[in-house]
Amino acid sequence: MDAEQNKPKFDAMKKILAICLLFALNSYGQKKNAVTNNNNAASQQLNALKEKTLSMLDASYAADKKTALQIWDYAELGYKETKSAALHIQNLKEAGFSVETGVAGIPTAFVATYGSGSPVIGILAEYDALPGLAQEAVPEKKSIDGKTGGHGCGHHLFGTASVSAGIAIKKLIEEKKVTGTIKVYGCPAEEGGSGKVYMVREGFFKNVDAVIHWHPANQNRVIMTSFIANKSAKFRFNGIASHAAMSPENGRSALDAVEALNHMANMMREHIPQETRIHYVITNGGKAPNVVPDFAEVYYYVRHPKREVAVDVFDRITKAAEGAALGTGTKMSYEIVGGTHDLLINKTLAELMQENLAKTGGVSYTEEEKAFGKKIQASFIGNAPPIEDASTIKPLQIEADAGGGSSDVSDVSYVVPTVGLETATWIPGTSAHSWQAVACGGTEIGTKGMLVAAKTMALTAIDLFNKPAVIQKAKEEFVKGVGSYQYKPLLGDRKPALNYRD
Ligand SMILES: [Zn+2]
Repeated sequence: MDAEQNKPKFDAMKKILAICLLFALNSYGQKKNAVTNNNNAASQQLNALKEKTLSMLDASYAADKKTALQIWDYAELGYKETKSAALHIQNLKEAGFSVETGVAGIPTAFVATYGSGSPVIGILAEYDALPGLAQEAVPEKKSIDGKTGGHGCGHHLFGTASVSAGIAIKKLIEEKKVTGTIKVYGCPAEEGGSGKVYMVREGFFKNVDAVIHWHPANQNRVIMTSFIANKSAKFRFNGIASHAAMSPENGRSALDAVEALNHMANMMREHIPQETRIHYVITNGGKAPNVVPDFAEVYYYVRHPKREVAVDVFDRITKAAEGAALGTGTKMSYEIVGGTHDLLINKTLAELMQENLAKTGGVSYTEEEKAFGKKIQASFIGNAPPIEDASTIKPLQIEADAGGGSSDVSDVSYVVPTVGLETATWIPGTSAHSWQAVACGGTEIGTKGMLVAAKTMALTAIDLFNKPAVIQKAKEEFVKGVGSYQYKPLLGDRKPALNYRD
C-alpha cells in the first residue's frame, strides 16, 4: 500500500536522478572531448614544428655539406683540431650562440649555449681524425702525400650534424616555438684522448636534463648496445745505450723490456675474462739496430664491457710492465692516456629517438653513388651486405653483444640521461677506422647520412622540449641505472693529455 502511495514521488526522484546522470555524463563527455581536442591540437602543433625543422635542415644542407667536407679535408688529430673547432665555433656564433671556448683545460673544447631556463638539452659534437688514415675520396686505396690524418670515424660529419641540429633548435627558441636552453658541446679527441671525460669531471654537464649524440656508421639504428670500458696508457722504458756488436754487455735494451711486456700480455690473454680486449702499438722501438735502444715506448688499450674488469686487467698489465723492467735491467714509468666508462643505455629516450628516426628515414643512393659503393664493397674481406640496407632502419632492441667499441660518450651517460643513434654514412659493410670509411665520408654518401642524423637529433630535442613527462621518466630510469655508483673517471685526476698524438 505504502509503495503504491509513494509511487509518484519515486518516479519523480528517478527522473531527477536520470537527468543528473545525463548531465554528469554529458559534462564528462564534453571534458573528455575538450581534452582529446587539446591533445589533437598539441600533437598537430608538434608535428607542424617538426615539419618546419625538417625543412630548415634541408635548407641548410648545402652549407653543412661544405662545413663537413672542409673538416674532412683538415683531418686534424686529437687535441690538435684547431681549425675544425674554430669553424664550428664561427658557425655557432654567427647563429647567435654564446660560446665558451677552451673549456676543461682543452684549447679545442667548447660549450655553445642559447636560450634560458629548463629543460636544458645538450648535443655532443666531435671533430677529431685518426692518424695514418689519409685517403682520397675515391673507391680505391689512395693515400695523400704529406698528410697523415683521415676521418676514418666520420667525426667531421658528427660535429657538423650536431652543430646544425643545435642551430635549428636555437631558431625555434628564438621564435618562442619552444622554451628552454640548448647547448652544443664541442668535444675534442674522442679517439683515445677521452676529451669528454675532462668536461664531465669539470662539471660542464651539471644541470643538463638530457644529452643527445650520434655516430657515423654503416647502418641506421638507435644505439641500444653498450660501449665497452677502456683504460689506456703509454709504458716507457729507459735502458742503457751501447754498441750492439762491440759492447752489448754494457747495454740494457729498452726494446727488450717492451717485448717482454708484450709477451707477458699475450700470455695473459688466456687467463682473463673472455670479452677483454688488449691491444698495443710500439710507438718507439729504438732508432738503429746497431745501437742498444736506451728508450722504448708501447701504447696499450685494455677494454671490457665491465669497467671494474677493464681496470683490473689494466692493473695486471702494469705489474707485467714492472716485471719486464726488472728482468731487463731497465726502468719503467707509465702515463695513463685515456679512460672511458661503459655506456649507460636509456630506453625511455631511445624509444623516443626511434620514432623520430622512423620519420627521417634511411639513406638512398644515386646510380653513381651505388657504383662507388660497389667498388668499395669489392675491396672487403668476405661478403658485403646489400647496398640497399642503407635505406632501412634497424628495429629497437637491446643487443646482448656489447659490441667492440668504446667512447667517452659513456662518461656523459653516467651523469646525464643520454641517447644516441647511428646513421649510414658509409656503404653497408664498411668498417670504421678504414680507408673505405674515409673515402665514403669525403663524398655525398657521408653527408646524406649526416643529414638523417641532424634531423633525428633535432626532432628528438623538440620532443624533449615539449614532453617534460618523458624527461622525468628518463631521469627515473637513469637514477635506477646508476644505482649507488659514484662517478669516478678511470683516468683519475690527470690533466688532459694534450700531446698524446705527438
Ligand atoms: Zn668515432
